Amino acid sequence: MIDGMRFELATRRFPRLTVRHVRRALSWIDPRFLEGLECVRLLDHNPADPDVTYMPAFLSGFLYCGSYLKRKGTRPATIALYTDDLYFGVPQLLAASPLAGFLVASTVAHEVGHHAVEAHGFSETSEEIKLNSFIDSETERVAATFAAQALEKMLTSPYYRIGRYTAQLLSNRLYVMGSQAHWKGDFKRAAALEFRAYMVNTENTDAWQAYLEDRQALLKNPSMLSDSERLWISHRRVSRPIG
Ligand SMILES: [Zn+2]
Repeated sequence: MIDGMRFELATRRFPRLTVRHVRRALSWIDPRFLEGLECVRLLDHNPADPDVTYMPAFLSGFLYCGSYLKRKGTRPATIALYTDDLYFGVPQLLAASPLAGFLVASTVAHEVGHHAVEAHGFSETSEEIKLNSFIDSETERVAATFAAQALEKMLTSPYYRIGRYTAQLLSNRLYVMGSQAHWKGDFKRAAALEFRAYMVNTENTDAWQAYLEDRQALLKNPSMLSDSERLWISHRRVSRPIG
């Protein structure tokens, strides 16, 4: 099934490399759940949200990373991946490393999870994910359970273990730099670094908490932001979109 997968490359950022990361991730997923998934489309960013081209991610507080389009009419079931988000926070030199491979695999596993729900009736939800307050819809919880199980299998390989370990190291480093910026009163730099720290390792909830506080401090003191950043927060969306 992976051999028959069609890749549509519509991104400037690491298209070929991303295909390699995606193929590696798919090779770890139970082929039963890949049945009917025919296309992976690589884009720079989510075309449904033109704001992302100019809004600073650390102010919006989310990245799309990917989305799943179910089969409709002549359109096959498709996974769209947004490379600006996938490599967000990853130093360019590490784009080919297991660290980036692990982050791409995390998103691929999640989006295949949506396909497993939609096309194959996958419906388990793990206890741990049920308790995770960051996830606010049942479909997302089931996709997250699928992703967690797929990642567990991937992490039996040294490649993904190194990937996860280096992602944790990078995340911790970014968090320390963010804390330093915080103590210097530079909440903008702090929020940007803490947001990166969390996006590179979503288990780093200390980074997420610190980010929320520093972002709040910024929103209360818009003078710390540039004109375009202020303009953006003045009409920012209220809810957090889900990929
Ligand atoms: Zn999702």
